[in-house]
Order: sequence, then C-alpha cells, then structure tokens
Amino acid sequence: MPVKKKRASTTRQPTSVVTGGAGFLGSHLVDLLLARGHKVIAIDNFITGSVDNIAHLGGNPNFKFIQQDVTEFIFLDGPVNFVWHFASPASPIDYLEIPIQTLKVGSLGTHKALGLAKNKGARFLIASTSEIYGDPLVHPQTEEYWGNVNTIGPRGCYDEAKRFGEAMTMAYHREHGVETRIVRIFNTYGPRMRLNDGRVVPAFVSQALKNQSLTVFGKGNQTRSFCYVSDLVEGIYRLMNSSSVDPVNIGNPHEMTVLEFAREIIRATGSRSRIVFKPLPQDDPKQRRPDITRAKTRLHWEPKVPLKEGLKKTIEYFRGKV
Ligand code: UDP
Repeated sequence: MPVKKKRASTTRQPTSVVTGGAGFLGSHLVDLLLARGHKVIAIDNFITGSVDNIAHLGGNPNFKFIQQDVTEFIFLDGPVNFVWHFASPASPIDYLEIPIQTLKVGSLGTHKALGLAKNKGARFLIASTSEIYGDPLVHPQTEEYWGNVNTIGPRGCYDEAKRFGEAMTMAYHREHGVETRIVRIFNTYGPRMRLNDGRVVPAFVSQALKNQSLTVFGKGNQTRSFCYVSDLVEGIYRLMNSSSVDPVNIGNPHEMTVLEFAREIIRATGSRSRIVFKPLPQDDPKQRRPDITRAKTRLHWEPKVPLKEGLKKTIEYFRGKV
C-alpha cells in the first residue's frame, strides 16, 4: 500500500539542496537557482569540487554551505523543496584515481540524497550521464537506448554507479512515490572546470595557452559534442520544473572529432601549439552525440551558445589559471 507522503509546504521562496555544489556543474546550478529566487544549501566534500567555485557567494543570505561527504547520512533542519544530486567525480582520470569513491557517491550518495528528498517531500533530480550508454552502438543516442557498458573496465566504476543511481531513483519513485527527474548530461565545458582534471577541454586549452603540444588520444577520430555550461543548467532547471519522470538527454548535438576539436582550440587561443598523438585509453567511446528530441518537445529547450562563443569565455577563464 502506498505510504502517505509528507510534502514540503509551499513556501514563497523555494529551498534547493545541491550536492556537489562546489563542483563545476553544481556551482553553476547554484548560481542559476539563486538568480531564480531559491534559497540554496550546497553540500560538497571538496574531493573534486573547489571553494573557489563558490567563494563569490560568501555573505549571500540565501546561500548556505555544508562540507560533507554525501555518502554519509544527510541531516538538514527545515523545509526542502528540491534536491539536485550532482556530487560525483566526472573525469576519466578521476575514476582511475578514486574508483571506490566514484562508486560510493553514485550509489550510497544517491541513496542518501533520495532519502533526504523522501523525508522532506522534495522533488529529486539526479545528474546522470551519457556514459550510461557506454561505447554506444546506436548513434545519435536516444533515451530509449540501453547502452553498451563494460562493467569491469576502467570506466565501469562511473558508468555502473550512474546506472545504479538511475535504478535507485526509479525505485524511490515507484515504491515511495518520490517525484523524480533524471538528466543524462553529455560533454559540457565552461569556466570552473578543473585545470588538471584530465578532460579534453581543460587539457587542450591549458596546453594551447602554454604553447605545448595538444595530446590527441588515438587517431582523434572519436567524436564528442560539447555543450556550454549555461545552456546545460538551463535545460536541467527546465527538466526539474517539467513533469518528465523519464530520463532526458541534455547536451549539444553539434558533433566533431577530437582532432577537429584540437584544431579549433589552437585557432581560438591563437596558439603556436602542435598536435601529438598518444595511445587511446581503454573503452574510450568512439562516438557520442545526444538526440535531444525529447528535451526539445518536453522542455522546449535547445542549446543556444555556439562553440566559438563558449570557447571564448572558457579560454578567458583558463588564461587566469595557467
Ligand atoms: N582526449 C584527448 N586528449 C586529452 C584528453 C582527452 O584526445 O588530453 C580525448 C579522449 O580520449 C576522449 C575525448 O577526448 O575521446 C573526450 O575525453 P574526456 O576525458 O573529456 O571525456 P569523455 O567524453 O571521454 O568522458
């Protein structure tokens, strides 16, 4: 028999909890929520997040920060209307270095964040990923595709944790009636990415700014599609406010090869860098592009920021860091 749910009282000012709120995406989401009138409680343990990403919010009466590992029980006083679960390492280099913490935050962390949402009668959104499609055999990737993941490969810890997180989210929805949303995030870039996180955007931009060779893995004919962070958080905000329990891909369908991307970065930075080829990491997906039909029809969302414009802002940010 379904249990009667406690719903958070409808306050004039909604309260959001963002796990991973000091991370790249989490901190941009926090900024957007504050701009849309939310009170925001950000939680982060700074394993991959950084205090620099939220330093500008010091003294903001609508912002509160809690330093905590979200795999531990999350205790909060007062009402919560929305839980946005963004805590996770998100770079292949991180998964290699901290695979167990990656697995724990995607599984135990998702469980704790769902428990918080259930307890508060809040709506819950999980930051899932295009990685749940693995090395995809369907292109572009639609939400109906079940994926092609190597459970025991180096990316398995991230991919399987996120797959578990989606399953757990649906279980809380079905068994406990929690209102849930699942966003599958494709490659995203912008200011506040960690300079040394190993992902292609910080890697290429910092190499180009230092006139060092850009390290293209494999032949560089694998493809990715890059979404600027402001587009991404707008899509995610719309998803939370929609009625779509089904997963929704959010990303930019503008697909290019990694080699083309390297050349674009050299152009955009005006660098003298050359390109060198390094071995392709194991299980590196050969192609990736979101089918965003569902986001377009259900959320009336599509990305607006062209690559040139997004790169300009990203390069400006990294100039100050290298
Ligand atoms: N890549 C590369 N050189 C680098 C870093 C990454 O060629 O220095 C490639 C990587 O092999 C992958 C793509 O860029 O094909 C995107 O890698 P990233 O780590 O950003 O994320 P992924 O999409 O693989 O999760």
